Amino acid sequence: METLRLSPSRMNDFTNCPQLYKYRAIDQLPEPPSIDAERGKLIHSILEDLFELPANNRTIESARDLLPKRWAMQVLDKPELSSLVLDEKEWFDRADSLLKNYFSLENPQTFESTYRELHLERTISDEIYLHGYVDRLDIAPTGEVRIVDYKTGKSPKPGWEEKALFQLRVYALLYWKNQGVLPKLLQLIYLGDSRIVKSEPTEAQLKSAEKVLNAIGQEILTAIESNHFPTKKSRLCDWCFFKAICPAHN
Ligand code: SF4
Repeated sequence: METLRLSPSRMNDFTNCPQLYKYRAIDQLPEPPSIDAERGKLIHSILEDLFELPANNRTIESARDLLPKRWAMQVLDKPELSSLVLDEKEWFDRADSLLKNYFSLENPQTFESTYRELHLERTISDEIYLHGYVDRLDIAPTGEVRIVDYKTGKSPKPGWEEKALFQLRVYALLYWKNQGVLPKLLQLIYLGDSRIVKSEPTEAQLKSAEKVLNAIGQEILTAIESNHFPTKKSRLCDWCFFKAICPAHN
């Protein structure tokens, strides 16, 4: 059997609904662009560019300047996006408010970011290759490592933070295993409601994340071997592009 390529988003698909995982990862069915995903991509690219500027130029005005330029590049790359955004003013206003929220949470002039869109990867067993892209990884002059992920949606309700932190624990595990350095801080920056969820990872938490991801990997391998991907109906079905062809709804 081929090595299984795992990422936090594909694991998330499988735990949400094995059939959704199959449509995306096995059948690789195309999906139309989603407005929320494209907005997220736009904001991520602006924040990535921002840290390429000298520290004193990392201002909200610079971020606003990047907005139409970055959007034009995105549309050039995917022309169908122009028909997705019906009200351009509303679209830019919403993006602008997310950037404002970012500047209310962090001052990018006060620190240097070491990596943006850092690709972390590792073969974690004979059967599983794990990888992912980290939005931002900062190494302080003291050597302490902070892993940061931007979310353009709203923060999870109380009690759901642990689930949200799993993705960052997977990245922390990869960094720890590859570099031998345990990251000091994990930070989820929610621009939708201006909130930061923080966690100081422990070795025990990362080892537990490793057990969980190995278990999910084994479940996926079993599903592939038996070609059995059950549907799992939930509220997510209302946002699932494949609902029209999904056996659970037909
Ligand atoms: S519609 Fe629901 S049950 Fe069907 S694939 Fe999508 S998430 Fe799964």
